[in-house]
Amino acid sequence: MKVNVLSVASECAPLVKTGGLADVVGALPAAVAAEDIHMRTLLPGYPAVIKALGEASGKTSVVATEPDLFGGKGRLLAGTVAGLDLLVLDAPHLYDRGGSIYLSPKGRDWPDNPERFAALSWMAARIGMGAIKDWQPGVIHCHDWQAGFVPEYLHDMGGSGRAGTVMTVHNIAFQGNSDPAKIDTLRLRPSRMTREGFEFWGRVSALKAGLIVADRLTTVSPTYARELMTDAFGMGLDGVMRMRAGVLSGILNGIDETVWNPATDPEIKAYKTPRGKTANKTALRKEMGLGKSDGPLCVMVTRLTEQKGVDLLLEALPVLVARGGQLAVLGSGDPAFEDALRAAARSEQVAVHIGYDEGMSHRMMAAGDAILVPSRFEPCGLTQLYGLRYGTIPVVGLTGGLADTVINASTAALDMQAATGIQFNPITAQSLRGALNQLCDLFYDSKTWAILQKNAMLQPVGWGPSARAYAALYRDIAPSP
Ligand code: ADP
Repeated sequence: MKVNVLSVASECAPLVKTGGLADVVGALPAAVAAEDIHMRTLLPGYPAVIKALGEASGKTSVVATEPDLFGGKGRLLAGTVAGLDLLVLDAPHLYDRGGSIYLSPKGRDWPDNPERFAALSWMAARIGMGAIKDWQPGVIHCHDWQAGFVPEYLHDMGGSGRAGTVMTVHNIAFQGNSDPAKIDTLRLRPSRMTREGFEFWGRVSALKAGLIVADRLTTVSPTYARELMTDAFGMGLDGVMRMRAGVLSGILNGIDETVWNPATDPEIKAYKTPRGKTANKTALRKEMGLGKSDGPLCVMVTRLTEQKGVDLLLEALPVLVARGGQLAVLGSGDPAFEDALRAAARSEQVAVHIGYDEGMSHRMMAAGDAILVPSRFEPCGLTQLYGLRYGTIPVVGLTGGLADTVINASTAALDMQAATGIQFNPITAQSLRGALNQLCDLFYDSKTWAILQKNAMLQPVGWGPSARAYAALYRDIAPSP
């Protein structure tokens, strides 16, 4: 059975991206197309998205209008960009502004973020109610808190039977909580401001709203699905997750293998075997001002936040350097971490580039011997998957998707020639030191290292099985024709 699915998100690669959510939202439509799912993606009309739509070669049309969309007019535009079948909510009063998509130029959340994404969710629900002529979604797939109110709105509009809803948690740390004084502005029913509804410690939680009402819940790895039901990882929503355990599943993210493929990657000196990394390594050392070395070149590409364990790495770093290793970091985020990294980079063995640079992230992946992901929690994680594909051995904390995607180089796994990386646990600086020591041991044993690299490059990291899992889920909840 063919199913129409509306995917609703606040970011989507290659148009607008701040993290892994964008990669997943951008890759999902092509991945599920192979399973007979027609997915259209609803995005806010940020300037970059409107511009891309304007430059697209195909026809763009207005497919619906909203005279009163949270303080101004909204138009729903349809068009195709980069192979994505897009629906774009053009509402200049909400989205046409400078700064980043979530933050003002001063680096603070836009004060009207609740309204901005409630409007997106409202439009999604209207589409569920048949707002577009000739296209009715059977399922609305809501990503993160920005789409959290969709199931609630759809229910309030009387449309629960018209489309099934899936709520996916990409990171439970982001919950979209707002002031209860906004209940009316957000077009929510005050009677739902309860523990059984969207109330969360006296605030209105967009994510909780979705978690309570959606037909199905998913998150981006089986281990994170289990972790979300514990108080250590659930960030206050573990009780809700436990209550809805029967409809919760973990489906691993894949990577877009047309974008992340060392044999065809235009950003690098392309290679099919790990030997091809040498030229890329030399180029990256030059680009980042690193000295010569026979030790492992470790790379890290990340948002610089507490979650990502940057502080743990800084503490453990002397071990790597003492053993002849090098570190190159590409990232941006918390100014304290940026400063600490800059300070650590005052040597020929450590380099850091503060900023966001898509091309450089590819060059780092191609050049690195190892990719470090010492996250304290990690719903899925994508950079370790890119690492596997590029023969760049992941060194990861044993949590979330990092636990599900890396085969630890235990004695048994090495004996069986199955290992693809190193996992450390507990996630502390002390245990990371051990992992970096193990990394050096393995690296200096060139025969074992070659086997690790080969295993890593052969490990499937594409969308195949996960696309089938999503398609099965959509079919389960779509109303029968
Ligand atoms: P998260 O979504 O928590 O940030 P993921 O590992 O799931 O973490 O995804 C991060 C994505 O963002 C990856 O595609 C990664 O390559 C990219 N990324 C993160 N920081 C940077 C950066 N500074 N420059 C380029 N790409 C980055």
